[in-house]
Amino acid sequence: MSELPTLKDLHALKPLQQPTYADADEVADVVRQLRRLPPLVFAGECDELRDKLAEVSAGHAFLLQGGDCAETFAGVTASNIQNKLRTLLSMAIVLTYAAQVPVVKVGRMAGQYTKPRSSDTETRGDVTLPAYRGDAVNGFDFTEQARRHDPQRLLGVYNASSATLNLVRAFVKGGFADMRTMHSWNSAFVRNSPAGVRYEQLTAEIERALAFIEACGIESEQTRTVDFYSSHEGLSLEYEHAMTRIDSRTHRPYNTSGHLIWIGERTRQLDGAHVELMRHVSNPVGIKLGPTTTADTALELADRIDPANQPGRITFITRMGAGKIRDLLPDVVEKVTASGRQVAWVCDPMHGNTFESANGFKTRAFSDVIDEVNGFFDVHDELGTWPGGMHIELTGDDVTECVGGAQELAEADLSSRYETLCDPRLNRNQSLELAFQVAERLVQ
Ligand code: PEP
Ligand code: MN
Repeated sequence: MSELPTLKDLHALKPLQQPTYADADEVADVVRQLRRLPPLVFAGECDELRDKLAEVSAGHAFLLQGGDCAETFAGVTASNIQNKLRTLLSMAIVLTYAAQVPVVKVGRMAGQYTKPRSSDTETRGDVTLPAYRGDAVNGFDFTEQARRHDPQRLLGVYNASSATLNLVRAFVKGGFADMRTMHSWNSAFVRNSPAGVRYEQLTAEIERALAFIEACGIESEQTRTVDFYSSHEGLSLEYEHAMTRIDSRTHRPYNTSGHLIWIGERTRQLDGAHVELMRHVSNPVGIKLGPTTTADTALELADRIDPANQPGRITFITRMGAGKIRDLLPDVVEKVTASGRQVAWVCDPMHGNTFESANGFKTRAFSDVIDEVNGFFDVHDELGTWPGGMHIELTGDDVTECVGGAQELAEADLSSRYETLCDPRLNRNQSLELAFQVAERLVQ
């Protein structure tokens, strides 16, 4: 592996979707400060996740990756983190029971603060300002002051990620994720919904089985704690580069800002800066594949980022759209598989299904999300390949951002609790409902 490129090398590649900072000295100072701060995750943990993703690639495990489209600094509260974690853990229980294989749990959490945008600017009335690019770059308020690209925010990303990860680690190892308490992960507002009722029945069944196993004298630490990993899109070159460190054990570079880092649909150019940085780090890498992806592009990306064909290194996150996945995915999966590569195939049923409602909200229909999930399973069933996981934008709260689901959320309901600063997320109810739908495909 050639040497880690410098930040300057990366900028020479003309990276897309980057902020425009006014003061280069200030940026350099922030990067210097970041480089001195301790790692957020350890190289050994990244290796452990890579091994688990190798199991996903081999068809022996399933990945559940989920969280906000854009985390916010204001969202770093105990209840917000707890609710999101509970939602993911409940979904994982449903999926594990159905698939009867380990579910690898990864949050879009503790680092998901930078957003690619389709336009550099946003216009409201006769005012045009820089677009919101995530709390890592600027503020959401529609004022000149808030929308300025501020490098100091990168230190805020570190602090927010660190606080989130600290609480997540305490939750998953400190008794909160004990399977004996999974009944209580269901929240009051979900309990009486169809998915909530199913969850109650399922957990009661599992709890009886656990009690039986304990009565037999078989105790397992595995049911008391959970392995949970963090992930985000590696978009800010300053932040991702500063957090990349040489591991003293292996002498290889690891991005210590998260366990799994993915490259977004808009920044996965083969000769681009993001691919260049990620091909040098040893973390497991996600790559988003949208509807324009050809099999050759997927293969070229895999060859560039994973020339050694290391198990668990590459996770392809496909986001083709409900109307396209059945036409476009087969060729990509077939040719990548025929090349001898074993990758994890994961379905992001969110990003190909976004539209604007008549009343002006960016939304997604739950039925489209389910349709893409079903298309994903259909394609893999047909080819005999393993549908390895789900990548979902969700929240643990009762928001109204995506239409449909058992509650039959209508466009007129969107305004009541629309809180996302970027893409619409499934609420807690819709997330659990999705898990049951995926579970049905997994037991077939
Ligand atoms: C995202 O995951 O929020 C995102 C922007 O996705 P994509 O790169 O697939 O558009
Ligand atoms: Mn998104």
